[in-house]
Amino acid sequence: MTTNDGVSMPVANYDQYVKMLDSANKGGYAYPAINVTSTSTANAAIKAFADMKSDGIIQVSTGGGKFASGAVGDMALGAISLAQHVHLVAEKYGVYIALHTDHCQANVVETFMLPLIKETEKRRKNGQPNLFSSHMFDGSELPFEKNLAMSKELLDRCAQSEIILEVETGVVGGEEDGVNNEGAPADKLYTSPEEMVEVAKVLNPIGKYMYAATFGNVHGVYKPGNVKLRPEILKKGQEAVAKEIGGGYQHMLVFHGGSGSELSEIHETLNYGVIKMNIDTDTQYAYSREIVDYMFTNYESMLKIDGEVGNKKFYDPRAWMKKGEEAMAKRIADACKDLKSDGKSIMLS
Ligand SMILES: [Zn+2]
Repeated sequence: MTTNDGVSMPVANYDQYVKMLDSANKGGYAYPAINVTSTSTANAAIKAFADMKSDGIIQVSTGGGKFASGAVGDMALGAISLAQHVHLVAEKYGVYIALHTDHCQANVVETFMLPLIKETEKRRKNGQPNLFSSHMFDGSELPFEKNLAMSKELLDRCAQSEIILEVETGVVGGEEDGVNNEGAPADKLYTSPEEMVEVAKVLNPIGKYMYAATFGNVHGVYKPGNVKLRPEILKKGQEAVAKEIGGGYQHMLVFHGGSGSELSEIHETLNYGVIKMNIDTDTQYAYSREIVDYMFTNYESMLKIDGEVGNKKFYDPRAWMKKGEEAMAKRIADACKDLKSDGKSIMLS
């Protein structure tokens, strides 16, 4: 896809994004959705997707946005800044990138999601592309009916500007970005088929949405084998949805909290409509792990020891951040292979 003057636009527009998600749904693969907090991590993600000939999703959390805004401490401002960077840089690569925002709880809709939606509304009036391709509203801590009512209201607003909304019911366990669900009751960790049907009935008539139905997922770090995933929850839910809605209708599902999952479990979910898998913990580790190695190996060049001056080539932050970026890109490349999105960019078709 190009603009009238032939310039490519690799932040996916609505039609391209829908095509990405439909292709994944039909093709039994999913997109890694990579959390970024800086231009460095964003660049690593774009490079990895391009190298793998995979389209991909780059996302910003409330905490990531706040961090990116520096001392201003404004989560929406930082998210806008990172999104603008991705818009500018992604143009130089040959795959589609969708821009997404991660968990937005009800109490931060006013300060995070709404300013970002307004930014897109403003841009559209000026003939510019959407800032973000999709947003997540996480009302999972609310009573189900209230969650669904708010999701409906937000999807209505988003759909008017061709923004896709991600919603969540049930609870993703564990802790991420300061939101702690470690004490969540076990039954809340598994979305029921009735809930999945209700979500489809209410949201499908309004607009395009993605859905984080929970099946034992847990945020954060777990040793392999310690996460008790039950992917069959998704299968049962999708079967109920197909029966109730008809026409072969299926949710486009999102997999949160997948660190430490078995590859066989990840592959199983791809058969049940998972088209997006969030990856944060594993890429955080990959980035930092490489830098630890660099620091320890180059200890004497990094520091000014015994009246010496160190080695500027080593302590220039670009030197070690570049190592972090390369390692993060490698981990994202593995994610593309695990989710089978490699070589499948719709730009190639
Ligand atoms: Zn999540």
